[in-house]
Amino acid sequence: MARLAPRAEGGALRRLVEGFDRFRGQHFEQDHDLYDTLLDGQRPEVMVIACSDSRTDPAIICGARPGDLFVVRNVAALVPEYRPDHRPHGTASAIEFGIKALGVRHVIVLGHSFCAGVRCLLEHDHRREPFEFVSDWVDVAREVRDEMDGLVTDAERPVVARRAEQATVLASLRHLATYPFVAERVADGRLDLHGWYFHFGWGLLQAAETPEGPFRQLDGGVTPAPALGQANAAEALARIRVERAAR
Ligand SMILES: [Zn+2]
Repeated sequence: MARLAPRAEGGALRRLVEGFDRFRGQHFEQDHDLYDTLLDGQRPEVMVIACSDSRTDPAIICGARPGDLFVVRNVAALVPEYRPDHRPHGTASAIEFGIKALGVRHVIVLGHSFCAGVRCLLEHDHRREPFEFVSDWVDVAREVRDEMDGLVTDAERPVVARRAEQATVLASLRHLATYPFVAERVADGRLDLHGWYFHFGWGLLQAAETPEGPFRQLDGGVTPAPALGQANAAEALARIRVERAAR
């Protein structure tokens, strides 16, 4: 067994413990009703499938409270197709538990900008940097790589990357629909599926309008999202930054 470090030493861990102290003071000790209710069990209406990326915590970016979100996070927010084979499947088991046991009403697949997992998928990074697990995992969305093949030129690389991140959200939603218990509940109206995309460069939250896209702005922010189809997203981003700075 590996040796454990039982004390929270070092700046990063110390900040977490201090964060917990703040949480207890601001939430736990002031919201007895909520925590008493949660003692009886969780009843989240929303499940989120998000990326493990440290910048895209769904509870933080959406201001959720304990009990609001049932969350599974993995590299690139991927959903494998339904393939029960009596092997351990972490994401599939979370989906099954959220839907069958908790009866969530909504499942959100939350993708994000500058996703390293999608980049691995697109650019075959794993060949230069051999991963034991990541390469096979991101291959879950190999159809996105096929879809983007031929589109990647140096000039358009950032735009293609953003499009691929959104295409990956749509692929995960397609895969989600292959689970019989998902399809059944979507068909009879007990479950709604959503594809969301968090662009933290632009500070935007977008949602897929149809299973094929496009993604439209969901947040009430004042910054309009540049269309991802436009040739130069870098220019669009620079313009937004100038506009923001001017406000
Ligand atoms: Zn990611």
